[in-house]
Amino acid sequence: MTVRVRIAPSPTGDPHVGTAYIGLLNYCFAKSQGGSFVLRIEDTDQSRCTESSKQAIMDSLRWLGLQYDEGPDIGGDSGPYIQSERVAAGIYQKYADQLVEQGDAYYCFCTARELDAMRNRQRQSNEPIMYDRRHRGLSIEEAKERIANGDPYVIRMKAPLEGEHVYRDRLRKGPVAKAWKEIDDQVLLKADGWPTYHLAAVVDDHLMGITHVIRAEEWLNSLPKHTWLNERLGFEAPEYIHVGLLRNGDKSKISKRKNPTNILWYRDQGFLPQALLNFLGLLGHSHPDEREQFDLEEMVRIFDIDRLNVAGPVFDLQKLKHIQGLYFRGLDDAGTKQAIHDAIDIRIDELMPLIKERMVFGGDFTWLTSTFFSESVPHHLDELIPKKWDAKQAGEVLDRFQSAIKKALKRNDFAWDAENIQALVKTFAESNELKPRDFFMMLRVAATGGKETPPLFESLAAIGQLKVTERLSNAVRKLKSQR
Ligand code: GLU
Repeated sequence: MTVRVRIAPSPTGDPHVGTAYIGLLNYCFAKSQGGSFVLRIEDTDQSRCTESSKQAIMDSLRWLGLQYDEGPDIGGDSGPYIQSERVAAGIYQKYADQLVEQGDAYYCFCTARELDAMRNRQRQSNEPIMYDRRHRGLSIEEAKERIANGDPYVIRMKAPLEGEHVYRDRLRKGPVAKAWKEIDDQVLLKADGWPTYHLAAVVDDHLMGITHVIRAEEWLNSLPKHTWLNERLGFEAPEYIHVGLLRNGDKSKISKRKNPTNILWYRDQGFLPQALLNFLGLLGHSHPDEREQFDLEEMVRIFDIDRLNVAGPVFDLQKLKHIQGLYFRGLDDAGTKQAIHDAIDIRIDELMPLIKERMVFGGDFTWLTSTFFSESVPHHLDELIPKKWDAKQAGEVLDRFQSAIKKALKRNDFAWDAENIQALVKTFAESNELKPRDFFMMLRVAATGGKETPPLFESLAAIGQLKVTERLSNAVRKLKSQR
């Protein structure tokens, strides 16, 4: 058997480190078996997918050096590799129709309002939230008549009602079991004729000859639907292997509130792709000789999927920085010079407007922007504490502001940009009855280490959420340690 694996990210936002991690495992598995590694873009949720995100996924994989053998921009024998193009080619509809004809799927005419009411009722009576299968019994004739009348419909799978779905995942001790009655009659084809992820992924894995699906364990819950679909469509199912999700230090699923999750953030911060890959290669896997530093080629050589530890590996930024240091110090003079150029080049357009007014020489750029590059900044108490305030009060206010940031970051629509930060800071100052001048200055000193920086909100945006919150925490600690 020739091994063929894929990653199938959905282009709904910044390219995620989770994709890099799963990509690395798939790459290593494929290459260690003499197989192929495929990139497929899953963009069937058109309301959430964007062109720029699609491009960013490809850019980030290329930057990392995880070169796929087939994919949207390089083609291959199983294309197209973007699902929206496969929809246009009419690939999925016939499989949904086949399932209906076999009696394995059915038309459902429930409106969004009916579904809402159903969910509300279930919520109130503490029942599990799922489709109540009310149209499962409609006769095919009746359904066809409604379709002829122009009633909108979806196609749902007729999931078994009894028994259990049992699966042995080679990375898990013992079988993974789930009762069928807990599994929804999943929508396979939406009202607009587009497939859902479940149908599209199963069909594509089959048509693309995928032999192993190595993916994050959050998909384990969908596995019964996928094995069932393979079976009913007469496909030989790939082997599904579910690996641990990357975690924050507190073991929660990795999130951008606690770790930068955008692969391109790492590139823009000057991380070397080899360092990031090496770091990811140590998550849940290890070198048999306990070595810490090894390149992608070596990782392929030592990779053994059965040695993967699925107990949610922790993404530890400090450890990544340590690995980065190993690689950085290994650069020759030309490489170091290049890294310096890259670090400045990549930020020059963003930072120059903020300091241009104060520049007299080109070299002034270096010291006028130092706060944007430094790991941490010193805090002088006399600058940090507004006049007529004491340290305790200042510490409490900053602490409360940290909570306000945390709360804002929980909102999906909150991007860390100057406009949002300004709104946040102003609302906070008003609701806490703080004099803007006092609070702005304290914030400026806490976040930048000095009184003189370019426009505050733009600066906070450019320093970045992670560094700002880290610096504020340090300032709070310093203030609270005063008597
Ligand atoms: N499109 C899914 C995702 O965004 C792919 C899941 C899978 O690998 O089956 O993660």
